[in-house]
Amino acid sequence: MNRAASEPEVRDAIAALMRRVYRAGMTTTSGGNISVRDGNGTIWITPAGRDKGALRGEEIPGFHADGTYEGRHPPSSELPFHRAIYAARPDLGAVIHAHPAALVAFSIVRQRPDLRDLPEAAAVCGRIGYATYATPGEEELGMLIAGEFRAGCDAVIMENHATVVGGKTLEDAILRFETFEHAAQVLIGARALGHVAAAEGSPDQAPRAARPDWPEAQPPVNSVLGEAEREELAAMARRCAAQGLAPAALGCLSLRLGADDFLVTPGGVALNTLQPGQIARIREGSREPGPEPHAAAAAHRAIYLADPGTAAIVTAQPRDLMAFAVAGVKPDVRTIPESWILLRDLPLLPAGSPLADSDGFARRFGRECPAVLVRNEGIYSTGACLLEAFDRLEVAEFSARSLILGRSLGDMRPIGERQVEALRRKFFPS
Ligand SMILES: [Zn+2]
Repeated sequence: MNRAASEPEVRDAIAALMRRVYRAGMTTTSGGNISVRDGNGTIWITPAGRDKGALRGEEIPGFHADGTYEGRHPPSSELPFHRAIYAARPDLGAVIHAHPAALVAFSIVRQRPDLRDLPEAAAVCGRIGYATYATPGEEELGMLIAGEFRAGCDAVIMENHATVVGGKTLEDAILRFETFEHAAQVLIGARALGHVAAAEGSPDQAPRAARPDWPEAQPPVNSVLGEAEREELAAMARRCAAQGLAPAALGCLSLRLGADDFLVTPGGVALNTLQPGQIARIREGSREPGPEPHAAAAAHRAIYLADPGTAAIVTAQPRDLMAFAVAGVKPDVRTIPESWILLRDLPLLPAGSPLADSDGFARRFGRECPAVLVRNEGIYSTGACLLEAFDRLEVAEFSARSLILGRSLGDMRPIGERQVEALRRKFFPS
């Protein structure tokens, strides 16, 4: 939210976000609350007792810094802890609280999600705090939560309750909230696959991939070229987020324009609202002025250089594939014919391998290996066009989901060698 945004804009933005959280299944009709502190110090917060699935901007009450109140409805009963957080952290402009299932699961077993196995998500979520139980709506709860925020946490697990996150802006806060819940789901899936979490420690210790520096092109790249491709790439990025394949804050898509020339989505920008003008272009190792390419762009370039047949790449962290990537378990994609035909093999490579040795990593890809899973990082799916790379990502995630669901039914029995050979003869005749 822009600090200079008008009152109706702020109220509409809060209502729209609450509807989005509800539609995404991350709150119930009565649960959760969202607030914004505007540039005048007014706190706008969702009202008590209204339908979260149909909230409108004019229903949002406001509390001005001079103590006056405006609005037709009483505020959320959790206003005290929102106020306490803002008092503790002058840098924050938005607070989101809700009861999404995976984070509630952590809160009722009284554990703090350890994001060290998910460095990209850890970078979005910031430091994770833990507030012991207190009665909802009471000042004590506000003090406990605000204490964690004052200590520098941006996301807090509320014991036997749920979570609360802060952000500089509303967009910042929602990306943190969605990424935090997604990470919790991944960690629960990884646990189901036998992953034992490391001893609890600070998520600050999570290894961060060094972002490669791309020199700016001199003279500037002609960015008028590739206009239609920018539209195509932005639309596919939004679709990836909408289909739940890439949380809005995580993931990178690219599309080849020439031999050593490709468009790539930026880092730190929400995929679910990505516009063509936010897309970066890298030609012969230089980037056009404008958005900073995503950190995965270096690996994408290496793959394009290694294989002229690759026209598009999607790097993503869908929930069930990430459970495998965190647990260090290679998914056996000989589940149904379609999975084997699209994925062939899905190797699991060590964490950090795309950046540590991008040429060696790129050479793994080819006809026999169009997609690769990287430990703690996600899937790299390639294709002869953007739709094929996306389809391959979808098929891989559906396969991972089936593998996890099937575990409670019995042992998986993959398609046998003879059946694979028959698929090979029919679909990949040499
Ligand atoms: Zn609550």
